[in-house]
Amino acid sequence: MIDTHIHADARTGEDFNEMYLSGIDVAVTCAYYPYKIDNDTILLNHLMRILNYDTKRAGEHGIELKVALGIHPTNTNVDGGLIYENLYKWIENKDIVAIGEIGLENLTEKEYEIFKKQLDIAQETKTNVIIHTPRKNKSAVLDEILEILPQHISPEYVVIDHINQNVIEKAIDTDYTLGLTVQPQKMDKYEAIDILDNYGFDRFLLNSDISNKPSDPLSVPKTIRELTRLGFNKKEINKIAFKNAEKFFNF
Ligand SMILES: [Zn+2]
Repeated sequence: MIDTHIHADARTGEDFNEMYLSGIDVAVTCAYYPYKIDNDTILLNHLMRILNYDTKRAGEHGIELKVALGIHPTNTNVDGGLIYENLYKWIENKDIVAIGEIGLENLTEKEYEIFKKQLDIAQETKTNVIIHTPRKNKSAVLDEILEILPQHISPEYVVIDHINQNVIEKAIDTDYTLGLTVQPQKMDKYEAIDILDNYGFDRFLLNSDISNKPSDPLSVPKTIRELTRLGFNKKEINKIAFKNAEKFFNF
């Protein structure tokens, strides 16, 4: 199984071990620092830690950790220049599988600027992006994102994450890949299963988004096992368990 969006830097080795024992082979870890950073160098250190330290830590417990780096909308108090420079380098060296997570949260001017710049880098370098949609104002922020994307990037590079029942109708008629996050306080496995049942398995990636917020490291295996228990077609289940992610990220 592949968990397509986690924050490994906020989790313990015990979590990775449980995930591995529950059938997760690969996880994509994304950049997010839970405290205000106003300095490019500090943010760069955070990103380097994910790339060089957390990959090793997860690996020791059997999880192959793929890395997405970028400037999260919560961390847009930085200038950004140093991070953009390094993004080009990481992409060139194939250190990262996506720019992410990026997006909008409070719709500040700086968020728009940094979001658009990262989309442009992704398009220029033919790199995937993992796009965050917030808990608050999800629908209004998604509208903004859907307006910006076509001016900056081709749909094939984009996954819009944390899609739920409230906004699925807006996202389903686009060409973007969509992320379903099964996490306490966000969405339970039955809501995710309902979405898959109603809209098919082809367009979606599944993830836990485990972070410093309330999380369940096993939400992906629990959802997959529940789909199996409920008798969904094995070929369809495999799409959401790993096949769609392998295709999107080119693993
Ligand atoms: Zn996240």
